[in-house]
Amino acid sequence: MLRLTRRAFSSTPSPRVAVVGSGPGGFYTAKYLLRDSKNVHVTILDRWPTPFGLVRYGVAPDHPEVKSVQDDFEEVATSERFSYAGHVFVGHPADAPSHTGPVVPLNDLMNLYDAVVVATGCDLARKLDLPGAELEGVVNARAFVGWYNAEPTFSHLQLPDVSDQLRSVIIGHGNVALDCARLLAAPSSHLDATDIHSTAFEALQRLPSKRLIHVVGRRGATQAAFTTKEVRELTELENAALVIDPAELEAGDTEASIEEGKARPLKRKRKFLDQASRRPGGDLRPGRQSRRARLRRSGWVKRGPTGIVGSNVADARETAAAVLEDLAASGVAGYGEGTSWADWRRIDGVEKANARNGAPRAKFSDVEGMLDAAKSS
Ligand SMILES: Cc1cc2nc3c(=O)[nH]c(=O)nc-3n(C[C@H](O)[C@H](O)[C@H](O)COP(=O)(O)OP(=O)(O)OC[C@H]3O[C@@H](n4cnc5c(N)ncnc54)[C@H](O)[C@@H]3O)c2cc1C
Repeated sequence: MLRLTRRAFSSTPSPRVAVVGSGPGGFYTAKYLLRDSKNVHVTILDRWPTPFGLVRYGVAPDHPEVKSVQDDFEEVATSERFSYAGHVFVGHPADAPSHTGPVVPLNDLMNLYDAVVVATGCDLARKLDLPGAELEGVVNARAFVGWYNAEPTFSHLQLPDVSDQLRSVIIGHGNVALDCARLLAAPSSHLDATDIHSTAFEALQRLPSKRLIHVVGRRGATQAAFTTKEVRELTELENAALVIDPAELEAGDTEASIEEGKARPLKRKRKFLDQASRRPGGDLRPGRQSRRARLRRSGWVKRGPTGIVGSNVADARETAAAVLEDLAASGVAGYGEGTSWADWRRIDGVEKANARNGAPRAKFSDVEGMLDAAKSS
């Protein structure tokens, strides 16, 4: 376990940088800070005992090629100048009433480190501003994704009890909408060898085999944010058919969208959608301030929730460079214990040992389980 101890602020020859958040925004920033400086020490703090943010709790389980970015982050963690403080919530205690680990106010962190980078992502789900949005059976994608990825906050979610045929509507035309559609449509064989939460795996298996999934968006194909790769994956699922109504595609065409759609990636996407529609029945963002001059942001908390894991590289480099510049012109008592990188390695080992046949790991969906595993030998 990692004990957080208070340390007097001092301008040492080895500056200490705290990065809040262990997702891509945080880890890429740590990577460039460590690479571009010979003496900076980086501590990544995260509210969960386990690292990697949405790579663990957002990216779909059947996208292991995306999740493999964790290997790069593991490499960053091998630096002697790196440490991890997991299960530490940074912010006001009132914002984390159920958090059982240390809570460190941001101001304290700024007194304790020479620089602080906030890379906390975009945690709040957008509210569906429609009558009935609160009804039973309406689930936010943030919760659904967190549930199938074993995020502790959402581990108690339950799918509505449907016996005959699942009829569902997904609102939104982004890649996350297609992740949700794919997970709902996928046969168990598709998810068997993934790190999907076992409870979700079993609940999805119990759904009736007849599943009708509508994916609706407010505008046309040109504006749809999903990529061709994601929509193609829907055509590759066994025993599932992607049905696109050509009339729906045309209904979204306006003079302006036809012009906008001439850009090459959009053209390619439209061609794919046109082809798929012809198959009968388808086919199976605080900046620089005076005392807070040392506070920087990285990742989604800086740019907003757009882009893929790799999109976080450019601004992580920019943030790391700005921090090093700040440093070129200061631990944490009484906060309690968080998890260290060695603790994460133990949790990792237990998750791997508990994996279903062929699956990479069986993720804990409760913090107590993670902490017990962290104590295992
Ligand atoms: C459902 C979904 C699927 C996605 N699929 C893909 C994909 O297939 N391919 C792809 O390239 N990209 C995908 N993305 C995008 C990718 O996940 C993001 O680009 C990336 O995770 C953003 O990184 P980040 O570090 O800014 O935020 P996050 O990954 O959210 O990391 C933020 C971290 O900060 C921690 N944190 C938050 N608040 C606090 C606090 N107060 N104190 C301490 N810690 C805190 C969180 O626990 C978390 O670990 C997906 C995103 C979502 C939502």
